Amino acid sequence: MPSTTPAVIIVFDGCRPDGLAQAATPHVDSLWQRGAYTWAAQSVVPSYTLPTHTTMFRSISPDRHGVLSNTFNPAACAYPSILDVAHTAGLHTAMFYSWGELRDLAAPGSLEFSYLRAPRPDEDIDAHLAGVAADYLVHERPDLTFLYLQQSDIAGHDAGWMSRPYLDAIEAMDRALGLLLTRLESAGLREQITFLLLADHGGQGRTHDGTAPEDTRIPWIISGPMTRRNHALHQAVHLADTAATLAHVLGLNTPATWEGRPVREAFYD
Ligand SMILES: [Zn+2]
Repeated sequence: MPSTTPAVIIVFDGCRPDGLAQAATPHVDSLWQRGAYTWAAQSVVPSYTLPTHTTMFRSISPDRHGVLSNTFNPAACAYPSILDVAHTAGLHTAMFYSWGELRDLAAPGSLEFSYLRAPRPDEDIDAHLAGVAADYLVHERPDLTFLYLQQSDIAGHDAGWMSRPYLDAIEAMDRALGLLLTRLESAGLREQITFLLLADHGGQGRTHDGTAPEDTRIPWIISGPMTRRNHALHQAVHLADTAATLAHVLGLNTPATWEGRPVREAFYD
């Protein structure tokens, strides 16, 4: 068993655990069935997309990183992100995303490759991003890759969380994930990589500000050569543990500023 592996972090924006349960998601299922998971990880308040991602990547709570809306606060740069830590250690980092605000998750220079494409009408943006990310992973073999998939958040705002269009969006993101996993499998890479799939926040009605448990309860799944298989985690998992767990997978030391801890229960001893 390897002591470190490459890692791919995949975010399903706004995806509730019960959304995953109600939608048909065979590819997500293939991850948790081969990995360790919880359906009750804890996100943060305010549970908007930029504050939550800042906590996810910088392992620090919103009251300290100061990103309290979807406008970046440069004060957060005092807390290195997992992308910064990986880059400083000489690892190859890449990011594929469709929402420009996320650019501030890495300091200038911390990404070897960054691909931003805004959603276009009548295009399955998540499938597009997954295809580009798959090509890059197969040809360039990055150590740490971030793939951001967006459709469930858009459908939640448009039609309501847990509505049929919302569940359809989750199924579309699952197909995008399937594109990625199939390509990696064909290239003989799937079994070598650790995947961490989670949501940044949930939602209810047509919003997600953090006032309801449905806003802050998130799925968190990790699957790779070092992880237990089909293991429901007992330990509480916090969004800030995400960066620390990725650091563990990649064999990186964690900055003293980080609040999160690796989810050790997810791994074989
Ligand atoms: Zn949203």
